[in-house]
Amino acid sequence: MGEERLTPHAEPRSLASFVMIGLNLTFLGTGTSVGVPMVGCECEVCRSEDPRDQRLRCSVLIETAEARWLVDAGPDLRQQCLRERIRELDAVIFTHPHVDHILGFDDLRRFTVGRDESLPVYAQASCLRILEQMFFYIFNGENRYPGYFKPDPQVIDGCFELGATEVVPIPVEHGKVECAGFLFRRGGRSLLAYIPDCKRIPEASMAALDGVECLVIDALRDDPHPTHMRLVRPG
Ligand SMILES: [Zn+2]
Ligand SMILES: [Zn+2]
Repeated sequence: MGEERLTPHAEPRSLASFVMIGLNLTFLGTGTSVGVPMVGCECEVCRSEDPRDQRLRCSVLIETAEARWLVDAGPDLRQQCLRERIRELDAVIFTHPHVDHILGFDDLRRFTVGRDESLPVYAQASCLRILEQMFFYIFNGENRYPGYFKPDPQVIDGCFELGATEVVPIPVEHGKVECAGFLFRRGGRSLLAYIPDCKRIPEASMAALDGVECLVIDALRDDPHPTHMRLVRPG
């Protein structure tokens, strides 16, 4: 999968329904935890000129008529925001606290600098705790000046809303860490599920995904991996 835009809804009946129901997904990064190419690797993929072999750390931008947000903010966040000219955000949602999904947290200050507003940051309690440990200087309230990032921590413990979008956490198994993907519903339709890191989907989560129109899911490589799903090619 290249880093491209797609509009994951099926044939809108009219422009009006597109605006009401539409949800635009931009892949900011689809790479592994160390990115592709890998530092210090001379393999065929890492030497490839193919743009599909240039992958930043996992993150997506989701835009609707009334709100825009990121899912995850990894170490490539700055470059990704510059590339896509992201100037404003209404929220950031975190799937889990692995460093390739959270290390851009400090760079989120560009979205609160000069504004007296905070940026809502949604994560499960265990993930928020790790963010608060790693970025203690952001959360402890000391030395706060206008350039500091001002997060507004929101604990995810069920569905929540961003504008007219219902966000449904989808708990998944991904090694030892508590991890979730997210289902985005608008106008009664399950438009998109985004599950970047996952080894197994529990039954209840599978049921919640029933009828989803577009599923973006982990498929790390051909060979089995202890904490990620793999790609099994037909035939
Ligand atoms: Zn390589
Ligand atoms: Zn992970």
